[in-house]
Amino acid sequence: MQPFNGILDSITSSFTTNRKGLSTEQAYRILEKEQGRIEWSPRYDGVSELLYTILSQHTSDLNSLKAFQSLRDKFWPWERITQAKTEEIAEAIWMGGLSKVKAPRIKRVLQDIQDKCGVLDLSFLKRMPMDKAKEWLQELPGVGPKTAAVVLCFAMGMPAMPVDTHIYRVTKRLGFISPKDTPEQAHSILEASIRPEHVFAFHMYLITHGRQVCKARRPLCQQCVLSVGCPSGFQI
Ligand code: SF4
Repeated sequence: MQPFNGILDSITSSFTTNRKGLSTEQAYRILEKEQGRIEWSPRYDGVSELLYTILSQHTSDLNSLKAFQSLRDKFWPWERITQAKTEEIAEAIWMGGLSKVKAPRIKRVLQDIQDKCGVLDLSFLKRMPMDKAKEWLQELPGVGPKTAAVVLCFAMGMPAMPVDTHIYRVTKRLGFISPKDTPEQAHSILEASIRPEHVFAFHMYLITHGRQVCKARRPLCQQCVLSVGCPSGFQI
């Protein structure tokens, strides 16, 4: 008997399925039932999302939000950053950490967008095929697959899957990516593993699951709603 019946009967196995018979769509449904329905709505515009993502690298959510708010208070509209000294930018974002690294990066990225587009506006990316939009963003200095995916997913509502440390760990344990897959490879693998309209919520569910249940050191397998279908359950 398949362990995932009832509400999951209608889900076919055309999605990525692990060796315990759990598919990504089934995991999505189980986590949705546990965590509640999540609908996408834009968090920031594209440029703001890009800046917020740069500020969130290697720091806590709280500190990056404080740094983002401080940057916006001092430099909104963002064109003002392109004219500012890097020391002034660093001063505005010091509470986010690594301010001396992030300040010149932020300035360079905005100058690059302005040079390429004439304005600081990334809304044109919504009209591009997603792979082209990703390529465009990744040509900006210091923008990798995760940052590009965050901008496209959170600001544009495109089905891009940002893979952070939680999602990488959880999906590896669940067998949706292989131990050999790099975080960079995991982006496209996971994106293709689930319906486009579920990508955003799946991303959110996996992060929450990783933070609260499938923790890095001691995963709480006995409390995990995915344990029946998890090849790593009770083995870590
Ligand atoms: S069963 Fe354990 S290892 Fe598997 S997803 Fe749940 S918490 Fe993580």
